[in-house]
Amino acid sequence: MQVSPALFERVSKWLKQEKKSYFNGQWVSGEGEAITLYNPATEEKICEYAALSQKQLECAIDSAEDEFKKQTWGKLPARERARLLRQMGEVVRENTEELALIETLQNGKTFLESLNDDLPDSADVFDYYAGWTDKFYGELGPVGYGSLNYIVREPLGVCGLIVPWNFPLLMTMWKLAPAITANNTVLIKPSSYTPLSFIRFMELMVERVKLPAGLINMVLGQGRAVGDALTTSKKVNKISFTGSTVVGKKIMENSGKNHLRSLSLELGGKSPCIFFEDTPNLDEAINRSFHVMFSQKGEKCTEPTRFLIHESIYKEVSEKLVAKAKAYRLGDPLKPETQQGAQCHRAHFESIVGYLEEAERIGLNKLCGGMPEKKGEIAKGLYVLPTIYGDVDPNCRLAQEEIFGPLLCLFPFKTDEQAIEIANNSEYGLAAGFYTANLARAHTVARELQAGQIFINKYGQYDFSAPFGGVKQSGLGREMGIHSMEAFTQVKSILTSF
Ligand code: NAD
Repeated sequence: MQVSPALFERVSKWLKQEKKSYFNGQWVSGEGEAITLYNPATEEKICEYAALSQKQLECAIDSAEDEFKKQTWGKLPARERARLLRQMGEVVRENTEELALIETLQNGKTFLESLNDDLPDSADVFDYYAGWTDKFYGELGPVGYGSLNYIVREPLGVCGLIVPWNFPLLMTMWKLAPAITANNTVLIKPSSYTPLSFIRFMELMVERVKLPAGLINMVLGQGRAVGDALTTSKKVNKISFTGSTVVGKKIMENSGKNHLRSLSLELGGKSPCIFFEDTPNLDEAINRSFHVMFSQKGEKCTEPTRFLIHESIYKEVSEKLVAKAKAYRLGDPLKPETQQGAQCHRAHFESIVGYLEEAERIGLNKLCGGMPEKKGEIAKGLYVLPTIYGDVDPNCRLAQEEIFGPLLCLFPFKTDEQAIEIANNSEYGLAAGFYTANLARAHTVARELQAGQIFINKYGQYDFSAPFGGVKQSGLGREMGIHSMEAFTQVKSILTSF
């Protein structure tokens, strides 16, 4: 599918209009610093917008607090809230192509990735949580005769939702849908690099869905200003954050300084994928793992950036991976034949280039990739070839640090114990996967691996009902399914005597 000239023209015109924050049911021109956005595929300026000032941020937080006190939304019948949530999803669905184009222009991922990977889930997650409005039951406590203990879940209050630039709309929707299903009010801070798809989403919501003022508030600006304001405010009772481990720790520190609040932290990863010698359907396993590693130009938190391959199949697997990488087509993200777009922003691109240089310096065994020749449609943008290093020392920086780009490390291993040791030799623990035909081995390895989610024989399966989140430096708490409902509520125990 290709972007139509009419859609491109409409979005180009929209980009020229002033981009405002939204709170208390009003569009508000920022009085803070000006921020310029560039298209990573060309590095041309696409838009400029103004951040909110500190004073404006306080008003935005007050508006979320006012609506929480009024509970205009919370007092609606559950069925009506479900209807409105489903309508939100439907509006996303009806505007999928426009939102996908905006996502691609600001992020650099291919239009087809935005359209087929990001947008469907961004809409469907509202349907999923709409079903929870009248199905999140309380409990009865087993207290003795003469007493009744009933236990209810209540909303937390004002929630700050802080999201990164890799899935700008999807990560926001993953938090927004359960947060308001649980009757909280929210302040959403998109990444300062990629606020546009969420701005357009808010415009569509304001035009098409009757939501109370103050329920969903969008605050634009840099992490250090807006993020700090949200994470230090005593009026914000919950921060649900997805982003880097460094910023996650800063948020934790801020949250404990003058307040005590609920935190969900979805952070970085360096996930392993193990190919045992009995991998069923080896070619299929190679294809899928290659895809989950290199799609979205390697800017996914759970992608397997470390492939551990049994020595008996190491040569075959590495050769097939390298052949696939060499055939992978970098190019203009808007063209349907492009498989890999541009890295999201210049500072991030330079950090990836730093890792490529370090690999050269320490003499890592580069099997393919590196920097592409700057010509044709990739002459100007932030492009990096899919890069694979063989026989990597598991302790070197490239094997240990999250690069968040298309750089893959391969490690041969002899025994299951050795594979588990290499896989767990990481400060992160977001996801891990492996391929085997042996059921006993599958259960043992799944229990031994230190990660929040384990994929057996199909890396990267996701479902709205499956818990998502990490251990170790990859985060705190879980999202999705009932876990998001629990993360956005608190328990109240009510004891009565009769
Ligand atoms: P980042 O941590 O730099 O920024 C994330 C968000 O935090 C942005 O909105 C940013 O403006 C804001 N921020 C920055 N400084 C802040 C501060 N001091 N206080 C409050 N907010 C602040 O991350 P990024 O570069 O946007 O995204 C890439 C990172 O996100 C990677 O580490 C990746 O692994 C992680 N990520 C994790 C998951 C997950 O579910 N575990 C999913 C996607 C991305």
